[in-house]
Amino acid sequence: MAENVVRYAHLVNIFLIYQMNNNRSVSLKQRAYERIKQKIVSLELAPGSVIDETALQAELGLGRTPIREALQRLALEKLVMIVPRRGMFVADIGMMDLQRLFEVRVVLESMAARLAAQRGTQEHWQHMAAVLSSLPEPLEIIDNQALIAVDQACHEIIYEAVDNEFLKDTLITMYALSLRLWYFALAKIGDMRGAVLEHVAILEALQAGNADQAVCLLEQHIKHFQEEIQTAMLGVPLRPIS
Ligand SMILES: [Zn+2]
Repeated sequence: MAENVVRYAHLVNIFLIYQMNNNRSVSLKQRAYERIKQKIVSLELAPGSVIDETALQAELGLGRTPIREALQRLALEKLVMIVPRRGMFVADIGMMDLQRLFEVRVVLESMAARLAAQRGTQEHWQHMAAVLSSLPEPLEIIDNQALIAVDQACHEIIYEAVDNEFLKDTLITMYALSLRLWYFALAKIGDMRGAVLEHVAILEALQAGNADQAVCLLEQHIKHFQEEIQTAMLGVPLRPIS
């Protein structure tokens, strides 16, 4: 058990250092954006609920402007819905969104895999290996938060390796929307360790510069996630995933 705690602390450290390196200067607007996004993605702010700007200002200790700007950015990213004369709401979650989101994500993640295999450096892959090595042994209990942290860190390292800001920004937006669905299905979803461990084979392909293999594995990985989430949300996959 103690060993698990040490491993988990190590994993969280890797992730925090990774995030710190990516957020060198964080403006108030950025801080508001990140905190509210985290609350929406983790369902702390429930889908469909009214957004109370005053409560957010008090809770986050931030002024009206950064909160308002953050919410507008989140509306563009489809996590917030602005309804004229009615206010702002946390975007709802629908099955159709899941289908539409994953049909885009599977294409863009595959594209990222190809470019990352061509452009990624050994530094990227060593970093990803370090993240993956922090996962506990097969029979040990693992916290869902730790699995999410590993999955997110692996994808973000790939997005960095792609070296294309346009693709990276889109993928980060898509990832947040998928992560919210993962949280949404969390109570009903099975152990996702197998799905997260698929990153080990993805890493091998990327490190070897084998773009075709990396694309194939990443495509399977995204479809696997879609299937797990759909099954958890509906009991059965919505329609066969081709
Ligand atoms: Zn993943």
